Amino acid sequence: MVTQILQPDAAGIAAAAALLRAGQLVAFPTETVYGLGGDALNPAAVAAIFAAKGRPAHDPLIVHLADARDLPRVAAAVPPLVDTLAAAFWPGPLTLVLARGPAVPRAVTAGGPTVAVRVPAPPVARALISAAGTPLAAPSANRFGHTSPTDAAHVLADLGGRIAAVLDGGPTPIGVESTVLDLTTPVPTLLRPGGVSLEALRALLGEVALGGEVAQGGALASPGLLARHYAPQSELWLVVGPEEAARQWLREQAIAATAAGRRVGLLVPDEDAALLADLAADIEPLGPAAAIEVVAQRLYAALRRLDARHPALILARDLGETGLARAVRDRLTRAAAGRVVQLG
Ligand code: AMP
Ligand code: MG
Repeated sequence: MVTQILQPDAAGIAAAAALLRAGQLVAFPTETVYGLGGDALNPAAVAAIFAAKGRPAHDPLIVHLADARDLPRVAAAVPPLVDTLAAAFWPGPLTLVLARGPAVPRAVTAGGPTVAVRVPAPPVARALISAAGTPLAAPSANRFGHTSPTDAAHVLADLGGRIAAVLDGGPTPIGVESTVLDLTTPVPTLLRPGGVSLEALRALLGEVALGGEVAQGGALASPGLLARHYAPQSELWLVVGPEEAARQWLREQAIAATAAGRRVGLLVPDEDAALLADLAADIEPLGPAAAIEVVAQRLYAALRRLDARHPALILARDLGETGLARAVRDRLTRAAAGRVVQLG
C-alpha cells in the first residue's frame, strides 16, 4: 500500500473522509499528536488500527467526536459533570472515560465496559470527523511503544506503507497526548496527565484522584514496574531533583560515559544546553525551562532526532510536576522504562 499525503484543505479532507467511510485508515493532526484514525463503529477498521500499530488488543482506543452533542452515539450515559468539563475544555486535549454505548465495538474498549472520548481542537480534525460522518477511533499514529508523532514525517517513518493516507497539518501545537480523566469512578480520576493540567481540573471539579498509570508514574515509587512506552531505541535516563544537583549529575554521567567511549545525547532545557555546551555530547535544547509548553511541543521530535543518531545513552532532566510539566515527566519516565534517578 502506498500512503497518500493529503493537504488539510477541502479536497484533502474530502478524500480522507471517503477513505475513512470505506473502512481505511487515515492519520490526522490533532492539537496533541497525530492520531491514526479509523471508523470507531466499524469493527474491521478498528481491527486494522491495532494491526497497523502492532498494538496489543488489551490497550483501548480513544474515540474522537466532532462535537460533544455526538456523545450519545458512543456513551451509554452522559453524567452532568460532562457538560461542565466540555464547556471548560472542549474542544481540547481532555479525554473522558464514560460508560460504553452499545454501538461501540468491544475491540475499541479492549473488551471493557468504558469508552474514552474527546473532541479535538483543530478545525481540520473536526472537519474530517464531520465529513466522515462517524466517530473516529484514533490512537497515536506510531508503531506500538514508539515515540508519538508530532508531524506527518514522523507518521510516515512509522506507518508509511501500512495506512491509506496522512493528512498533513504541520507540527502539532501541544506535543504530548491528552489528559485522560475517568468519570466512572466515585471521584473523577486522572489516569494520564496531558494537555489539560491537574490544577485546572481541580480548580473546576474540586477533588480529583490520581489513578492507574499516574499513581505509579507520579510517585516514582517502583519505577521497575513502569511500562516501557514512548521509548527511544537508545537507553534513556531521567534525573529528578533540585536543578543544580540534577545538572551536575548530567555533567558527571556524560563525562564518565564519554570516557568509556559511549556517545551521549542530552535532552535538556536551554539553560542546561548552554551550561553543558562544553561536553562532548549531542545536545537537543527543548526551550526555556520556564516555558514548559515549548518543551512539551518539542519533546517528541527532539527525542526522535537524538535517537536517529544512535547515542549509547540519552540523559534527560525532569522539570517538576506543575501544569504541563506533569505530562512531560510522565512521558520521560516511560521513555526511561524505569531508569529514573531521584536526587536530594
Ligand atoms: P493513545 O491514543 O495512543 O494516546 O492511547 C490511548 C490511551 O488512553 C490508552 O493507552 C489508555 O491509557 C487510555 N484509554 C483509552 N480507553 C480507555 C478506557 N476505556 N479506560 C481507561 N483508559 C483508556
Ligand atoms: Mg500512544
